[in-house]
Amino acid sequence: MKLKAFKFRLEPNQQQKVLINKTLGCARFLYNQMLSEKQTKYKSKDDSKLKTEKEYKIEFNWLKDVDSIALQQARIDLKTAYDNFFRKLKAGQPTNFKFKSKHNPKNSYRTISISNSIRVEDNKIKLPKLGFVKFKKSRDISGKIKSITVSKNILGRYYISVLCETEIQKLPTLDTQIGIDLGLKEFCITSDTEFVSNPKFLRKSEQKLVKEQRKLSKRVKGSNRRFKQQKKVFKLHQKISNQRLDFLHKLSTKLINENQVICLEDLQVKNMVKNHCLAKSISDVSWSKFVEFLKYKADWYGRTLVQIDKFFPSSKTCSCCGNIKDDLTLKDREYICSHCGLVINRDYNAALNILREGLRIISGWDDRDISVNIQTLVCSS
Ligand SMILES: [Zn+2]
Repeated sequence: MKLKAFKFRLEPNQQQKVLINKTLGCARFLYNQMLSEKQTKYKSKDDSKLKTEKEYKIEFNWLKDVDSIALQQARIDLKTAYDNFFRKLKAGQPTNFKFKSKHNPKNSYRTISISNSIRVEDNKIKLPKLGFVKFKKSRDISGKIKSITVSKNILGRYYISVLCETEIQKLPTLDTQIGIDLGLKEFCITSDTEFVSNPKFLRKSEQKLVKEQRKLSKRVKGSNRRFKQQKKVFKLHQKISNQRLDFLHKLSTKLINENQVICLEDLQVKNMVKNHCLAKSISDVSWSKFVEFLKYKADWYGRTLVQIDKFFPSSKTCSCCGNIKDDLTLKDREYICSHCGLVINRDYNAALNILREGLRIISGWDDRDISVNIQTLVCSS
């Protein structure tokens, strides 16, 4: 059983909108109350338990009007936020702890399905307290509904994300394998000699976003013009994010469909982003998202994903003879081997090495057995 998420535009009627807004407000209110209580207790070194939802409901009577499970989830969210905060603090990463603001571009609440309390009928979904709410059913929902998240964004649009437990059919086993080198110039290069370009529209949209964000920072806080600009920036943000996800989903699905074994480098993107001149390109191509998609899809469909140690010299090694070229620089686009005379595209060479190393890891073969395989690939290119 795997968890799969489906996201749709929600089309609540007026009455339902009012109740959703109220639930969003209550969940946010409770979250902030609990956070403030926790902080006060922390400062005064008081380690007694936090007030329960029940106690809060007595104190703030109007909390009773909304889905009680959504309120319980607010406590879980707070715990998660706390855990993340301390994990980052321990690791020495920058972190902060924020109260939830009504002015967030996106607000949401989560609730879980208890004995079929949430179910889909035609193009309507039954939600606690709200009854049947219409939604734009762009695809079928398969599996057993576990939980849902209702969100409202700055544009006044409502969405629902449905998390289902579902049986996923594994794909038939193949005998194909591929090595992938994630690049800067190209998005990636494969050992099948495929060069996948960075989507240019992303770069373009991003430049536009920088411009609009600069404008936003100049607008007076609380003004109507600022709010308008905020909406514009949000829209652009969403467009970029959707385009990027679409690109990464299509590419990862294709690779999973066509290959039994997929080998790539363990990049530790977090460490690389610190290097400012590379940072932009890296965030642009969203490698970490790509790897995340490959990981869960490999798990779903029965493929093997191998990540190569980040210290493996994939660029400096000759894919033909195994010689290591220590003086290779980032500028060298071509790999020229002084030992065997191989002349080969730098990134393609790396992809071949990544494939070879990945196969070595999973098969336990030694290098010699695999090199035969690789050399045919080189010759056919
Ligand atoms: Zn060589």
